[in-house]
Amino acid sequence: MFKKILIANRGEIALRVQRACRELGIKAVVVYSEADREAKYVKLADEAVCIGPAPSAQSYLNMPAIISAAEVTDAEAIHPGYGFLSENADFAERVEKSGFVFIGPTPESIRLMGDKVSAKQAMIRAGVPTVPGSDGALPDDPAEIKRIARSIGYPVIIKAAGGGGGRGMRVVHTEAALLHAVQTTKSEAAVAFNNPEVYMEKFLQNPRHIEIQVLADQHRNAVYLFERDCSMQRRHQKVIEEAPAPGIPRRLIARIGERCAAACKKIGYRGAGTFEFLYENGEFYFIEMNTRVQVEHPVTEMITGIDIVRQQILIAAGEKLPFTQRQIELRGHAIECRINAEDPYKFTPSPGRITAWHAPGGPGVRVDSHIYTGYSVPPNYDSMIGKIIVHGDTREQALARMRGALAEVVVEGIKTNVPLHRELMVDANFEAGGTNIHYLESWLAQRERA
Ligand code: ADP
Repeated sequence: MFKKILIANRGEIALRVQRACRELGIKAVVVYSEADREAKYVKLADEAVCIGPAPSAQSYLNMPAIISAAEVTDAEAIHPGYGFLSENADFAERVEKSGFVFIGPTPESIRLMGDKVSAKQAMIRAGVPTVPGSDGALPDDPAEIKRIARSIGYPVIIKAAGGGGGRGMRVVHTEAALLHAVQTTKSEAAVAFNNPEVYMEKFLQNPRHIEIQVLADQHRNAVYLFERDCSMQRRHQKVIEEAPAPGIPRRLIARIGERCAAACKKIGYRGAGTFEFLYENGEFYFIEMNTRVQVEHPVTEMITGIDIVRQQILIAAGEKLPFTQRQIELRGHAIECRINAEDPYKFTPSPGRITAWHAPGGPGVRVDSHIYTGYSVPPNYDSMIGKIIVHGDTREQALARMRGALAEVVVEGIKTNVPLHRELMVDANFEAGGTNIHYLESWLAQRERA
């Protein structure tokens, strides 16, 4: 087992990985930018190395600085967390070439899945159902593009092969708008993702976002840890996640889960990963794979009792998965609310000093957050400052516990989206379960009008 791991991230996930290290008796090195100097997890770490000024391009995305921090501290492995360099194949390659273990899949897997066109083709080969669309990237010939759209049927969505974070997508309803939309998406993608390739998919009208968590070791074992429902989204960004997904028959989950585990073996995948699907009328359609730990991993941990970050570390160290598929049991229901430093209804970021922080607690309540009273939320990074996760025997109990936790939590000095979560937890449609990916935005639009 490793003696020392470097954590190449910040905020709640840096703390989450540090906790896993401590539990395993591994020393944790954190890297931090000048904006994060005062963070408590930086002070709690066994060692901490400043890697640059606040802008992430000069710190959390600065590969040479991170690798030399690993060298000077004698770390053996690097955990990338999520975001930043976690899905950067070049970084994974440089980490391994420098003699460290990258806690994640191989650079080849990251590269394959990082390009959505090659990812989709790999999934088709592995027998995973995908959204009907173009075979690979769109050609240049306008007549051919029109022919493809007609054969798929409108509306279609044009997506950048290199897209991510909800960016680089455009919905097209008519042939008249098609070629212009393809051109615009291409030019935007060339600038934003350094890759002008785009592809076309059927635009599904009312799907849910359902994803399957997998774990695969380096000995050809792969399991799925059931599903998460992440349909509560705003601007393609997840706001609330839960597991299991309300109302989806367990046999359908088992069938798609088995396909995902089989695909992992087929592509030689290792580590934790997530297969994201749109789900409509009883069918799953693969959209992309995330080759890292996700923000919403705790809901899966709560219903399975499996520590996903611990497993990532054990897998990277070459250990075999300690359980088989049959030994993984689903227990109860879990819900996560992402707490963001932002105006709850206008969504403008609200960085600044937290003058009071009181975390909720009680049975089945978990808080993953690095904040404390007196902590200043820097303006340089993502606005998420923590997550409240609850577990109950039933969805009703989990909902009741989340309502209690949201009633207890106090964050003063900055604005947060806690008031939004409080309203959503008593919304009749959310309470009923199974809302689709457009629900939150239409709920917000309706609230605005009222
Ligand atoms: P990203 O990598 O930017 O997150 P995804 O491919 O995962 O992009 O898509 C993000 C979100 O965009 C999905 O959760 C869904 O809300 C919407 N979306 C993507 N593809 C489609 C589609 N074919 N039909 C309808 N909605 C889609």
